[in-house]
Amino acid sequence: MNRPLLARHLDGLGTTIFAEMSALARTTGAINLGQGFPDTDGPTEVIEAAVAAMRDGANQYPPGDGIPDLRLAVAEHRQRFYDQTFDPDGEVLITTGATEAIAAALLALLEPGDEVIALEPFYDSYAACIAMAGARRVGVTLRPPHFRPDLDELRAAVTERTRVIMLNTPHNPTGTVLTRAELEAIAAVAIEHDLIVVTDEVYEHLVYTGEHIPISTLPGMRERTVTISSAGKTFSFTGWKIGWVCAPRELIAAVRTTKQFLTYTSGAPFQPAIAHALRLPDTYFDGLREDLRHKRDLLGGGLRAAGLTVYEPQGTYFTTTDITPLGYADGLDFCRRLPELRGVVAIPEVVFFDNEEVGRPLVRFAFCKRVEVLEEAVSRLKRLEP
Ligand code: PMP
Ligand code: GLN
Repeated sequence: MNRPLLARHLDGLGTTIFAEMSALARTTGAINLGQGFPDTDGPTEVIEAAVAAMRDGANQYPPGDGIPDLRLAVAEHRQRFYDQTFDPDGEVLITTGATEAIAAALLALLEPGDEVIALEPFYDSYAACIAMAGARRVGVTLRPPHFRPDLDELRAAVTERTRVIMLNTPHNPTGTVLTRAELEAIAAVAIEHDLIVVTDEVYEHLVYTGEHIPISTLPGMRERTVTISSAGKTFSFTGWKIGWVCAPRELIAAVRTTKQFLTYTSGAPFQPAIAHALRLPDTYFDGLREDLRHKRDLLGGGLRAAGLTVYEPQGTYFTTTDITPLGYADGLDFCRRLPELRGVVAIPEVVFFDNEEVGRPLVRFAFCKRVEVLEEAVSRLKRLEP
């Protein structure tokens, strides 16, 4: 065959950095602070609800939109936390994790040649799905030390071809939580140019500084926003892959069109269990956040003591660092060597950047791990020199 097997518009997608680094953790036995998944399970009562559902026969295809009780629980959750009303019949769609929601939304909304403005570093699936849609990403770079979006850069990025602004707040990997003023400025751009905002809010409950404000709650935004979230991070069940989309009926109809042909439906016994989880009392959500705040501080202190520049995240369960003070310059090379050098796995952020100069020295560590694991990791990282 004289043509590469992988379609040309997918060039460069290769293997995800999370897969590469988790495989490295397995083969070297290193502590995995790379891929973001907790090393403890979510609430036992939620597991029991999934087991009960399986025993009660929730083992065949659920409805394509998701089971009615989970759609209702998602709508109740929006009302409870954001005072926002979504009709569970037609304005809520259950997906196979946020990953499928992102893919379904972008594949539904974009035409070849369209442009998507997104905060850079980009979570890897945004770049992949934009490429699969034949569209083009245009980054607005979040730069150290504060990783705030430059709103003039964002305004200047809009062209005739712009169709979507893709947001992520709290932002993976920088931990930036967009402020009301930033969101208002972004909303004004979206309204002025009649753009759709797709917003990934999977870390909505993991905010330590500031407040999570869904952009869909701002005036004029509900009708043009596709909000995506997931049970993975909020309930520590990343392997269950239950996500959801909230949006007005016409946008849900568009996303449903592609979603039907990606997985159609999934997670039969997990859907009722996540409905139960979404109805847990506020103490659950507060407890999760406070536990992770403590872990953020523990890891941040340890990384600082190891000599790295630490950028304290406002949200998510990731800490971004700069390895330059240790005498290293290239995060990718550093992360490939770190398991051998120190028995720890981390994620090089350069892979999430088009603007590689900015991303090259940045390395992300996950702190969603048991305290003793974080303590062991930071003790291994001490006296780290080239
Ligand atoms: N978006 C972001 C920003 C993420 O960090 C992740 C990983 N949880 C996802 C989407 C994917 O979520 P899910 O596991 O629910 O597919
Ligand atoms: N969201 C997880 C992270 O940022 C990774 C999920 C995945 O492997 N695709 O670490």
